[in-house]
Amino acid sequence: MELAEKLIRKSTLTKKEFAELLGQYEDEYLRKRLADEALRIRKEIYGADVFIRGLIEFTNICKNDCYYCGIRKSNPNIKRYRLTKEEILSCCARGYELGYRTFVLQGGEDGYFTDERLADLVSSIKREYPDCAVTLSVGERSYESYKLLREAGADRYLLRHETADAGLYGRLHPSAMSLANRKQCLYDLKSLGYQVGAGFMVGAPGQTMDHLAEDLKFLEELQPEMVGIGPFIPHHDTQFAKEPAGSVELTLFLLSVIRIMLPRVLLPATTALGTMDPYGREKGMLAGANVVMPNLSPAKNRKQYALYDNKICTGEEAAESSVLARRMETAGFRVVSARGDFPAEQRGK
Ligand code: SAH
Repeated sequence: MELAEKLIRKSTLTKKEFAELLGQYEDEYLRKRLADEALRIRKEIYGADVFIRGLIEFTNICKNDCYYCGIRKSNPNIKRYRLTKEEILSCCARGYELGYRTFVLQGGEDGYFTDERLADLVSSIKREYPDCAVTLSVGERSYESYKLLREAGADRYLLRHETADAGLYGRLHPSAMSLANRKQCLYDLKSLGYQVGAGFMVGAPGQTMDHLAEDLKFLEELQPEMVGIGPFIPHHDTQFAKEPAGSVELTLFLLSVIRIMLPRVLLPATTALGTMDPYGREKGMLAGANVVMPNLSPAKNRKQYALYDNKICTGEEAAESSVLARRMETAGFRVVSARGDFPAEQRGK
């Protein structure tokens, strides 16, 4: 309890202290203490508002081979797809009607989407929906590429660092990928004025509390505007098929810690969390999250964007339903139709 009180007082701990605190996540009383504080901070800054982001999973073609991911290049058992510009724009049209004011274009690292094609997509969306934010989540690219996309109008970029420990990074990714490059991309994105989202999986194979403590220290250093975390969930076509999934409780605990560390952060209760627990997203809100990212992808493609097994919201329901709004209300929150930017005065610290 001492460490929790120290975190609440100082908004930070040493790496060693973070690891020790995380080791106590099974203590329900402790989880409640941190969740209450996280919720208090979140309410002070954002009230009961829940921001919604329309997620458009526009390609599952990927040149990378991340060992945990179902759409990795060397998985021959999935049907690959790529949405056309028209399909993407019609996802936005439907989303706009439904009240979405942020569109997240997420996909594998698909060579078809050159700078030129992506920039054209971004500027087309911004031209048609000037009151909307565009978030990109298309992996590692060059500084010049990020610059061009920023100039085309992209507002935000999600690129989870996955783990801030180089050793663990090497066990989760082939040697062609490196933590150093991942971090460089995040710093490049920051310097270009994107609102940047880093993050990691909770319970990734081989992950320890020390690794997670390192992740927290990295977030503290980077000062991202957004943080995406969710439990690792095995995918049957990967080498981690038989590994256990990450813990919902530990994910919730981390959400609270991150809210206390980065009070204004935009923090989603992720689909992975909702997949592991039918009330995962509500529990996420109560632990300090303030964003949900419903699926706006065409219903026919949703199942094909299978990062892990049993992903929820791959049916017709996804973004259309008012169920989400009602469920959030029941939990004491209110889904709002706003861009939901990071509060400006705190940017670039
Ligand atoms: N190609 C993009 C988008 C990756 S998919 C990029 O590199 O950023 C988005 C996130 O899904 C990943 O960053 C990863 O953290 C998460 N993810 C992938 N496989 C997963 C799994 N098996 N369980 C839980 N999350 C997973």
